[in-house]
Amino acid sequence: MSQTTKTTTLLVIGGGPGGYVAAIRAGQLGVPTILVEGERLGGTCLNIGCIPSKALIHAAEEYEKARHYADGSALGISVSNPSIDVVRTVAWKDGIVGRLTGGVAALLKKNGVEVVQGWAHLVDGKTAQVETAAGSVRIQCEHLLLAAGSEPTPLPSVPFGGMVVSSTEALSPADIPKKLVVVGGGYIGLELGTVYRKLGAEVAVVEAQDRILPTYDAELTKPVAAALAKMGVELHLGRKVLGLNGAGNAVRVQDAAGAETQLPADRVLIAVGRRPRTQGWGLESLQLDRKGNALRIDDQCRTSMRDVWAIGDIAGEPMLAHRAMAQGEMVAEVIAGKRRHFTPASIPAVCFTDPEVVVSGLSPAEAERAGLDCLSASFPFAANGRAMTLESTDGFVRVVARRDNHLVVGWQAVGRGVSELAAAFSQSLEMGATLEDVAGTIHAHPTLGEAVQEAALKALGHALHI
Ligand code: FAD
Ligand code: NAD
Repeated sequence: MSQTTKTTTLLVIGGGPGGYVAAIRAGQLGVPTILVEGERLGGTCLNIGCIPSKALIHAAEEYEKARHYADGSALGISVSNPSIDVVRTVAWKDGIVGRLTGGVAALLKKNGVEVVQGWAHLVDGKTAQVETAAGSVRIQCEHLLLAAGSEPTPLPSVPFGGMVVSSTEALSPADIPKKLVVVGGGYIGLELGTVYRKLGAEVAVVEAQDRILPTYDAELTKPVAAALAKMGVELHLGRKVLGLNGAGNAVRVQDAAGAETQLPADRVLIAVGRRPRTQGWGLESLQLDRKGNALRIDDQCRTSMRDVWAIGDIAGEPMLAHRAMAQGEMVAEVIAGKRRHFTPASIPAVCFTDPEVVVSGLSPAEAERAGLDCLSASFPFAANGRAMTLESTDGFVRVVARRDNHLVVGWQAVGRGVSELAAAFSQSLEMGATLEDVAGTIHAHPTLGEAVQEAALKALGHALHI
């Protein structure tokens, strides 16, 4: 095998949303850049994460709609015998993934980034060794950007393999199991649990905490729990998973009192979190400071070693694609000589359940913990005309603002389609909007966004439609 040596200014390890955005921006700024990717450009997000999960969520929603119409509908629509060919659904999803990852490759090329395909092994903080199909490549750099992402956290009592799968396998099913047990009632467990339920599986979710989506506030997740119950998803809260039964066709769970039950399963999805990918590629030898399992970074994404940077999931929570991208863009600009710091007013988060949940900034409890004297107000979708025409009046928009100067410090919403409100929420926070700014903005009618304006009006004591 041949051995070649390359030299560059910026070496990016990982072609996920963090790494590819950093490389594109560095290329735009004229920084010579090499990006190494061991698997597929686009990383977890494009290949086995955000995009495929949202594609399946959409397909499952459409199928459920068709089944709903088959039972007759107040809208006057009728459908007979809907069916779904899951293999075609997965192929459609793969087509979207292919278009997006192809787009990333084209953007990297357009911006002069050299992509090296292979797994990088770090030699030191300035050198990586990559085994490619054409031989060994040694890459030397001035700046090393670690963007290696994360991987599913295994559950020792129910190891992966056979019918026990991670989100990766769950996103490309060959068929739909009759009975799915999901371990973990967080983002992945509920997004994909909902997909499988809508595609016809009986779904049971086992969650260690005493409520689903424990990182969100309880009021916000109540409509999600109610919708899951209506859909027929069983929730087993406050339970510990002991393992599979002897026959391998049920999951043994224990409640707080120590009583054991068995949940029948043809497939088990383990979704108990993701861990930064810090092992097995020489990273340990750099002895970088850690924060738990993740790399510790400062507000410019610098690690404890000079000119070694880290972004995205490898640098810990929140493990979200838009946070990785924003960090990647910033690091490229800092390396190119711009003065930048990563100090966003908010990193919005959306859970694409049915109904969806969106948060940006502080909840009332978080504001209180931060020592702020705040007021908050909610406006229900039950009083929003657009929500009625969409047949989805569950949920609300909530605003949190400082009592003294009415500066908005947080937004939360739950309801169908509320993910799209994330843009308005985060813009108002970044721009330092007050309740009066939002209340005084004309919002188009009829839209769900009117609930945003009405929440601000309600906080000011004069909501118009409630
Ligand atoms: P990754 O996307 O994980 O990319 C890292 C890349 O590095 C990978 O391609 C990997 O192959 C490569 N790599 C690792 N080590 C090496 C090495 N030694 N040599 C070469 N290459 C290497 N986030 C959202 O914001 N919204 C969502 O809706 C959402 N949905 C999700 C759904 C699922 C099922 C999952 C699993 C995740 C979801 N996420 C979502 C999270 C999101 O995917 C991650 O936060 C995001 O991908 C992190 O980006 P990253 O660049 O840090 O790492
Ligand atoms: P998560 O942290 O969202 O949820 C994990 C859940 O598992 C938690 O509720 C936790 O209490 C529970 N849990 C942990 N150990 C358990 C055990 N032994 N038994 C039962 N329950 C247990 O993690 P996830 O759903 O695996 O997703 C991983 C990450 O991927 C998320 O944190 C998020 O950053 C990202 N993601 C984001 C989105 C999105 O933005 N819409 C979607 C999917 C994934």
